[in-house]
Amino acid sequence: MQVFREIAPLQAHLKKYRNSPSTIGFVPTMGALHRGHLSLVEASRKESTVTVCSIYVNPTQFNNKDDFEKYPKTLNEDLAMLEKAGTEVVFCPGNEEMYDGAGRGLSFDFGTLGTVFEGAYRPGHFSGVALVVSKLFHIVGPDFAYFGQKDFQQFKIISRLVEELKFYIALRCVPTVREKDGLAMSSRNMRLNREQRADAPALYEALAMIKEGLHAGKKMDVLSKQALELCSDHHIELDYLALADEKDLSIQKEFSPDRSMILVVAGKLGGIRLIDNLAVN
Ligand code: AMP
Repeated sequence: MQVFREIAPLQAHLKKYRNSPSTIGFVPTMGALHRGHLSLVEASRKESTVTVCSIYVNPTQFNNKDDFEKYPKTLNEDLAMLEKAGTEVVFCPGNEEMYDGAGRGLSFDFGTLGTVFEGAYRPGHFSGVALVVSKLFHIVGPDFAYFGQKDFQQFKIISRLVEELKFYIALRCVPTVREKDGLAMSSRNMRLNREQRADAPALYEALAMIKEGLHAGKKMDVLSKQALELCSDHHIELDYLALADEKDLSIQKEFSPDRSMILVVAGKLGGIRLIDNLAVN
């Protein structure tokens, strides 16, 4: 496994994979890796000649200074995990390399797709995500890029980005990897204390309960109320819990099986913010 901190040597190294039939698979991450990240690496390894994983905690996508400063950093463990998983190339740049005075001021507007749900609670977040992902796509020049279903709205934003900016990259959405009790794996989970960790699976439980109820013909508002109670019993302060159209993330009052819909949720346990989602169809 080769580790690069700078763009020029990374690009020189990747040159030999640029021509067909070789393909470059790319997995962008912010580190503090877990099995969810590794499932993206695995998907890339199955499909691409060489897998490049980036580790970079991007400052422009954090609207909350405390969240940015407390974001877990475990570079040595991350590198060991990536090596074991068979990753060929790691790119872990510093801020100077990514934002050398340029680009910080650029912003993206995705319309309602960028202002609902996460966009409403994290102003500027998706603009920062789009900025760093654009930079990384240009630097790495992948054929395939892998993202998690866990951050479904982010996947929709990046799909739009690729479409609008004509990136010649095929995107893959990889299913959410969960702990045995249903909690979606997340780098932020390592900040939960014992009590919070025991309460956290209620977020997924609430989604699963609503999904079952919708299929049994129950009303969304009744199910939402029950889910709210379940979360509050587990000390989770919800930011949002909604049923949305999978295509454009528009909020839906009721489930109709002839349209693809998704349940989305975000909540805080102590100061730690967790998100999850579940396809209903
Ligand atoms: P992050 O390091 O949190 O920015 O995540 C990097 C990538 O890993 C994103 O595409 C996430 O959606 C994906 N990811 C994070 N958690 C999971 C999970 N539990 N299952 C699958 N993919 C995930």
